[in-house]
Parts: sequence; structure tokens; C-alpha cells
Amino acid sequence: MTNTRRTTKQLMVGKVGVGSEYPVSVQSMTTTKTRDTDGTLEQIYALASNGADIVRVTCNEIEAAESLVKICTRSPVPIIADIHFQYKLALAAIEAGVQGLRLNPGNIRNEDQIKQVAKECLNVGIPIRIGVNAGSLDKDLLEKYGEATPEALVESALNEVRYLEEVDFYDIKISVKHSNVPLMIDSYRLLAEKVEYPLHIGVTEAGPLPGGLIKSTAGISTLLSEGIGDTIRMSLTTDPIEEAKHGRQLLEYLGLRERKSLDLIACPSCGRAEVDVIAVASEAQEALEKEGLPIQVAVMGCVVNGPGEARSADIGIAAGKKRGHLFIKGEVVKVVDEKDMVSALVEEGKLLAKEGIEARLAAADKDAALIAQKDAEELMGIQGDINNFEERTKSVVEITSKQDKEK
Ligand code: SF4
Repeated sequence: MTNTRRTTKQLMVGKVGVGSEYPVSVQSMTTTKTRDTDGTLEQIYALASNGADIVRVTCNEIEAAESLVKICTRSPVPIIADIHFQYKLALAAIEAGVQGLRLNPGNIRNEDQIKQVAKECLNVGIPIRIGVNAGSLDKDLLEKYGEATPEALVESALNEVRYLEEVDFYDIKISVKHSNVPLMIDSYRLLAEKVEYPLHIGVTEAGPLPGGLIKSTAGISTLLSEGIGDTIRMSLTTDPIEEAKHGRQLLEYLGLRERKSLDLIACPSCGRAEVDVIAVASEAQEALEKEGLPIQVAVMGCVVNGPGEARSADIGIAAGKKRGHLFIKGEVVKVVDEKDMVSALVEEGKLLAKEGIEARLAAADKDAALIAQKDAEELMGIQGDINNFEERTKSVVEITSKQDKEK
């Protein structure tokens, strides 16, 4: 990313810093009943191990607030309580020890109640997210603007900011989520011009995969590329583990977070492919994900272009002549039978993660590069090397003119 991150105020959600001085963080939300302490904790652990830095849980009843006492103590990541309608549940969640609150200005509208909650948060030193949502916008603003426009969402957020600032509360982050991607982007751009608070970005109600993932990626990436956004959530209608995993992957792919997970690149396949690239790539992905190796792996359908095109990958395999050419940083280190391509890739991947690139290059099979070169040359001969272009073109011209004469 070449952008400059928008400068914001900083705040802490437990141990996680949010703001321009900290890495963009990943959030997700549990789908369990919060009163089910063990079930909720189990999901929080799964979310954390799949990339969530912060987890939000609903606090929709007093039993949920009670459960939060244990959840907050045992959670591996900071917990934010999601509050709608009932400000008293916000007070109960603070009492329970949450590390942050999300308030919806669309449904907690009483100024005194909001200020009371803010004062309590100030006392215990936790932040508040003002979570404006197009689907639950303040009725007055809906009437004023006719629909949930970016101006309406931003005005809702700014009204809430004013209430909080009036009681000297500044540990604020804001979201103005919309399910329409262009409107979501415009809302955040407008908000970013008006405040210095960190922004929590996401496309609300993005829906199931794959559409939800595409919408979230489009909206979040556009804003991040402009330097807008300090913490993200992909709101997907699927297992929340997917939200955490994809959110984390997005930040890694954008170069905003260090790689912790597998990055499998694969060619799209074409007429040159010597194997079923889709099948080999899926098999490799499954096997490598099980190992949890934080490396970039390439699966290429042929040796003609494969190793060269995937030169930047840590490790890769390309198919040729019923064999797999295993390469590290574009250099062939081993040639294996086609049926052993995936197992060899996994085995070498594990060694690479343990011993490093230099050591594995030094351990390369002596004759691998030569065999690989021979395979590639033979394939180029069979499939049409660029060097034979003129000769091959001549034969195509001859065939075409013969067909023309026969017409
Ligand atoms: S690597 Fe080979 S098979 Fe894959 S897209 Fe490129 S040319 Fe086609």
C-alpha cells in the first residue's frame, strides 16, 4: 500500500491499541447466547486463534451481563459489549469488566442516559464505539434526509460525539456502516474529514459467501487504500470464524499485517496445464492449512511458465511431463512423481518454515535443475516455444490459405 494512514487519536481496547499509531486490527462477533458462558468462550478462543484481535459479544439481557464477568476474565482477547436500546445493560457490562462498549445512537437516544454511560466508561477507562448503522438510523434523521444517506449517518455519529465530549469523554471510535458499498465508502470518507477519532470500518449485513466477502473486501480495501480505517469487521452471514479468518487475510494480503497464515497462490490454469490445477491447489491448500505454516506457496500448472511466474513465492510446485518440479524462490530443488506433488510440497514447506530459505536451497538435489530444464525444453518443443514462432506461424498460414482455396 502506498497510502499514508490518516492520523487519528489513539485509544486502547484492553491490550489492543486502536488508531493510526497501531496496526489495523480485526474484529468479529460471537453468535452464541452470551448467557452460555462456556459456549461463548469456546467461540471467542476459536475467533482469536483465527485472527480476531478483539471480539464483540451481545449484552442483551441481565444474564448476559452476569456471564460477561467470567467471559472477560478468561478471554484471550479484549471483549466489547454490544448494546442496543437498554442503557442499563451498558452499565451492567461495564460493571462486569468489559474492555469496551458499542452503543447504537439509533436506539439509545436519551442524552442523559448516554452521558451517564460515558461517565462510567471514563471512570473505568474503557472506550466507546459509536456504531451508526444505516438499517437502524435515528428516526428523526431518516425523516430529515428521506433515507440513510452518508450525511444522515455522519450527522447521527456527530450528535453522539457531542454528547460524549460534553462530559469530557474522548476515547471514541466511530463506525457509519451501510450495506450498500458505494454509500458505505462515501459515509466513511465524509466522516474522516470531520473527526480525528479512529474509525471502525465495515460493510454491514454484507450477507453470505461469496457475495458478502466481495462486498466487504471492496468497501474495506477501498477505504484502507485511502488510509481510512483503524479496525475492521467483515459482517458475513456464515460461521464467524470465517469473518475473523478473512479479515486477517485481507490485512495480510494488503501488507498491513505480518503474515501469520498460509498464502496460497496458484495459476488459473490454461491449455498448457499438465495437471488438474484446481484439484492440486485445493488438495495443497487443505494439507498446508492443517500445518498452519505462515509461508507463500505457489501451485502452477506447467513448468513452461510456472517457476518463473511464481518466483516471488517462498516455495512452489509446477507440473511437467508427469512430474512435479518443486522450487524455492524460483529455483528448482527437487523433481518428484506427479502423484507425490502435494506431499512433497507439504514436506518441503515444513522444512522451509523450520530451517529457512538459504538452508533449503543448499540442500537442493544436485540434478534437479538439470532434469527440470530438460522437461521444460521438451514441453516447449511439444507445445510451441516462442523461439519456433516464425516456423509455426508459417505452417498456420499454409493451413489457412489451403482452407481458403478449398472454399
Ligand atoms: S503456469 Fe502454465 S498452465 Fe498455469 S496459466 Fe501459466 S502457462 Fe497456463
